[in-house]
Amino acid sequence: MKVAILSVGTELIFGQTVNTNATYLSQQLNLLGFDVLYHYTMGDNPGRLKRILDIAYEDCQMIITTGGLGPTEDDLTKEIICQYFDDELVQNEESLSLLKAYYQQMNRTMTDNNLKQTVLPSKAIPLQNHAGTAPGFWLEDKGKIIISLPGPPREMKKMFLDEVIPRLKSLVKDFLYYKTIRTFGKGESSLETEIIDLVHNQTNPTVATYAKEGECSVRVCAKGSSMEAAELACRRVIDEIKNRLGEYIYSYDDEDLVQVVGRKLIERSISISSAESCTGGMFAERLTEISGISKVFDRSFVTYSWDAKEQVLGVKRETLEKYSAVSSQVALEMVKGLYNITGSDICIAITGVAGPLSDGDNPVGLMYIGVSYKGEIFVEKFQMRNIDRKWNRNYAVLKMLDTVNKLL
Ligand code: AMP
Ligand code: MG
Repeated sequence: MKVAILSVGTELIFGQTVNTNATYLSQQLNLLGFDVLYHYTMGDNPGRLKRILDIAYEDCQMIITTGGLGPTEDDLTKEIICQYFDDELVQNEESLSLLKAYYQQMNRTMTDNNLKQTVLPSKAIPLQNHAGTAPGFWLEDKGKIIISLPGPPREMKKMFLDEVIPRLKSLVKDFLYYKTIRTFGKGESSLETEIIDLVHNQTNPTVATYAKEGECSVRVCAKGSSMEAAELACRRVIDEIKNRLGEYIYSYDDEDLVQVVGRKLIERSISISSAESCTGGMFAERLTEISGISKVFDRSFVTYSWDAKEQVLGVKRETLEKYSAVSSQVALEMVKGLYNITGSDICIAITGVAGPLSDGDNPVGLMYIGVSYKGEIFVEKFQMRNIDRKWNRNYAVLKMLDTVNKLL
């Protein structure tokens, strides 16, 4: 079934509030097997709301709205929908008694404008709000469905989960299976080029790529008359993607790189420590997101200055002077020094130019990662695309995680 999501609220188009409702609903609806065709976002404006309903129903059988159900003057969604469906607003007794009970429980007096919330279109099924006051509703007429939910994300989500999903499930006959394959080290456009025939030629499963902060995902999604049939349809394409992109893939289950690395280190009891220059402790910060990592993560030194590299890790002053702090020689001495102190199974050190200014000797985005593992020691040099300081540092951490992942 084809669906449009309609987010109503002047704060949204002013850019004051991020439209998280549309993202959430899209994700949920996709999982349930609905085709979300459009996101419309608009202010609290009756005329435009009517027009959008007309436009959206040209392609979609179902519209889900959020926002504009509250007690104040600008909340108009319900009134306009009611007119659109030639219906009238009537007092909903259940919603009224719930609202009264809510105010009693909160020990607050209810102002009259609150009553506005408890009238609903006569043909609508009320959707109770267990996280706030404004009820939502589900209205079906002449083959069109509209579901109206409140704006505050907490209320919207609870209502969607408790009141809407059970009703939606009766509308879908297909089962949906999907996998999100995560990759690192290949840009989105070049990744897509390698699988463009799969992206273009497939309708079931569908294949789509998404880029996110230096990483890239490929989502494979199929419908079937049973879960097994849907999975089988995906399996063929996943195998083909594996053939073509295998070396870049680190997860078939939508895990973050740090989750994959953390899990492997813990499962295999491989200890790790780090020495960080340009990442300033970010590697340690990311790694310690993983619950249970204390079993394997020893420590990280943030050795930013020459002095720190010299005093903590024993990097030689002449090496720094001769080759500069961002050099393979320094990365090598950093990792050797780290290993002497911690003796961890994996020692990893990084030095690089985070930008936006060059250090005078080296281009922005030049990085060296020194690694010791199982008696071997090596330095990897890489030059990343300089986006900005934040992105560069984040990418450097991903690169460190990727290096560790490849060892494992
Ligand atoms: P309303 O139901 O229109 O009174 O919305 C109440 C509040 O919910 C607004 O002030 C916003 O903070 C929030 N809100 C409304 N729509 C959205 C949305 N699409 N995404 C995130 N927050 C929203
Ligand atoms: Mg509003």
